[in-house]
Amino acid sequence: MDIETQYDYDVIVVGGGGSGLAAAVSAAESGARVLVLEKGEELIGSTGRSVGSIAASGTPDQRRIGIVDDADSHLADYRVLSGPLADTESADLARVLTHNVTDTLAWLRSMGMEFFGPVGEPPHSAPRLHNILPGSRSYIHHLARRARDLGIDIELRTGVSRLVVVDGGRVAGVEAAVDGGTVTYRAGRGIILATGDFSASTDLKARWINDRVASFLPVNPHAEGDAQRMGIDLGARVLNAEVFDVPSMRLAPPPSEGIYGLLQKVPPRRALTRTIRWGLRHLPDRVIRSLMMGFVTTYLSPREQLFTDGALLVDGDGALRSNTDENINLVVAELGATGGYLIGDRELYEKYSAAPHYVATAPGVAFAYMDDFRRSRRDVFTEAATIDELARGIGVSPERLAASVAEAGTCRVGPYFALGPIRAYLLQTNGGLAVSTDLEVLDGAGAPIPGLYAVGNAGQGGLALFGHGHHLGWAFTSGRLAGRHAAHAQTHAASAV
Ligand SMILES: Cc1cc2nc3c(=O)[nH]c(=O)nc-3n(C[C@H](O)[C@H](O)[C@H](O)COP(=O)(O)OP(=O)(O)OC[C@H]3O[C@@H](n4cnc5c(N)ncnc54)[C@H](O)[C@@H]3O)c2cc1C
Repeated sequence: MDIETQYDYDVIVVGGGGSGLAAAVSAAESGARVLVLEKGEELIGSTGRSVGSIAASGTPDQRRIGIVDDADSHLADYRVLSGPLADTESADLARVLTHNVTDTLAWLRSMGMEFFGPVGEPPHSAPRLHNILPGSRSYIHHLARRARDLGIDIELRTGVSRLVVVDGGRVAGVEAAVDGGTVTYRAGRGIILATGDFSASTDLKARWINDRVASFLPVNPHAEGDAQRMGIDLGARVLNAEVFDVPSMRLAPPPSEGIYGLLQKVPPRRALTRTIRWGLRHLPDRVIRSLMMGFVTTYLSPREQLFTDGALLVDGDGALRSNTDENINLVVAELGATGGYLIGDRELYEKYSAAPHYVATAPGVAFAYMDDFRRSRRDVFTEAATIDELARGIGVSPERLAASVAEAGTCRVGPYFALGPIRAYLLQTNGGLAVSTDLEVLDGAGAPIPGLYAVGNAGQGGLALFGHGHHLGWAFTSGRLAGRHAAHAQTHAASAV
């Protein structure tokens, strides 16, 4: 069934994550009538599931603590982080990122967002990580609120499947599946693709990376590479498609009904975030750690070091999986959605109960130790006097767990504990459409495809974005700039579609 209805806008943004909302707000601030089409049930994307740090230089936060820093120095450090990709990635796009991200941060702040930091990370020559408070959903909350204030239309459950091209090769509209039919939306000035990466697409991961990575769990189920596919159909190129980060093991997030679930739902208004920032600077460590366990960072990542210090990894049946030289994150990734458990004994518990042996960290905020899990996260922490009792507590075969412990020979002294379930996720892939410094999508010959822009992961354009805080920096910066460029583009009659 074809639904005949067609809608006209100046700018249409495909994808309502961080880069898409930034593009929409920026285009509307430049006077455009804007529509956002979002495939999911809610606005969140990878952006709202991230840790939330942005790397920027020359910020008021740096000045407050006497750090002298600038964009040229940030660019130099960024290029070091790019490693072997520095020779092939676009130096011009790296400059767009590092020389505009500070204005982007100020722009996000002007919408009510608050940050904690700056936090250092080698090889950056100065502390540059700015962490959103209280968590990354704050980006989505404030951008969506600003979008509503600007009169931007947002359609949820509307996945765009095709770009509409008119004579002369200009992209002038999109088609989306709605209620079993197809709706066409027309844009007089530009279409901005902001659909994220392809970590949830089994076939693209198999085609561009390999079959093993194809089976890894994504964080964001809607990251299906739709922009990359639609761009390729029009002759665009995807760069760095084979580049991926090793999956990262994470403990399950806290249950949504408890105190942390309640805290997560509190709107991140300025009064709350300022109180939290004050708390992070002045409250005792123990209180901050407790907050961190389920609020500041929800998907805590246990350190790999635990396994070299004697922890076992067992699968959902209790069978030993850490008896290998392979990177433990990859071994956990093989366990898929069922995941596994980290098993340890009293000696390991005691070792990981004080600095420098932390179990997990919220970068720059706090370190969490065994006692913190025991006290604050009983949903992922189980303890027992015997291995048999522990097996029953986590629901694995007592015989198999006993055999695993005997084979490993490291868990010797009770009581014993288990952390889990632990699963490993592919946080993102890095292949994005090639774009110009104005975020126009480029064809195979390097010429802009008229009317088409790409931002965030979808328009990563060969950028490596290695190191923390560069992906979000790029998402918001590319979105902010593309929104402005599209809004100021020459208008074409939308009815030409
Ligand atoms: C756990 C985790 C932690 C991270 N931490 C950090 C960090 O601290 N710092 C950092 O810099 N980066 C971090 N990242 C990476 C960063 O979050 C992403 O690179 C960034 O959010 C990408 O933004 P985006 O707008 O491109 O994509 P998204 O935020 O994923 O938005 C894309 C949107 O498009 C929608 N969509 C998809 N297809 C369609 C379609 N066909 N039609 C309509 N809508 C569609 C999706 O549903 C989604 O809402 C992290 C990522 C993860 C997963």
